[in-house]
Amino acid sequence: MNQLNLARSEVLARIQHACEKANRTAESVELLAVSKMHPSERLQQMYQAGQRAFGENYIQEALEKIDALQHLDIEWHFIGHVQRNKTKHLAEKFAWVHGVDRLVIAQRLSQQRLNSQAPLNICLQVNIDDQDSKDGCKVAEVAALVQQISLLENIKLRGLMVIPAPENTQAFTDAAALFAQVKPLHAQPAEWDTLSMGMSDDLDAAIAAGSTLVRVGTALFGQRSAVELDTPQV
Ligand SMILES: *Cc1c(COP(=O)(O)O)cnc(C)c1O
Repeated sequence: MNQLNLARSEVLARIQHACEKANRTAESVELLAVSKMHPSERLQQMYQAGQRAFGENYIQEALEKIDALQHLDIEWHFIGHVQRNKTKHLAEKFAWVHGVDRLVIAQRLSQQRLNSQAPLNICLQVNIDDQDSKDGCKVAEVAALVQQISLLENIKLRGLMVIPAPENTQAFTDAAALFAQVKPLHAQPAEWDTLSMGMSDDLDAAIAAGSTLVRVGTALFGQRSAVELDTPQV
């Protein structure tokens, strides 16, 4: 077994263990491999280990990898901050966009998704623990956004995405409660099935609270060696 195979098996075992403790089936949690700052060759190796869903944060970097790996059956997720003027590539090249936090972003994605494509899956990013960050809508805005976004064409509004401050496990519980609370407001409640929360350091707590999709980078690929960009590449 190579190193990436081993790392992936360990993460899957961690997910399974957390699910058992929470009385959930292991299939109720999906593993998204967060591959930002890692070269295409590493993604290809992770693919060979069995991984199909990959998450990227920076558009230019992601587009290069999508092009280089187009022969593989990868499900691409965009998990970075979505800028209003960068929605076209997201609409056309990705299967999922997790960082939607305003109606205008969802409207643009809806308009720019090609009719020939399957609907774009999106998650509404919520600033669940009210951090001083520009990312994520306010908790109080969620109800109206679910009602409005769930009506858009070419979009499937799947659920919520949160990135709480480290060790704030209460935020996971709050997100799960909010997720359940707004479900009836969705135009098609059956599509509301995804709670995107939990990363390398806190996926166990996120699963205990009800996460259905964990976004894991470091525990799968190791440390990101290059300095992480704090502003998106253009
Ligand atoms: C980088 C990133 C992750 C992965 O973080 P790790 O700690 O490396 O697992 C998950 N979610 C988002 C939104 C990220 O930007």
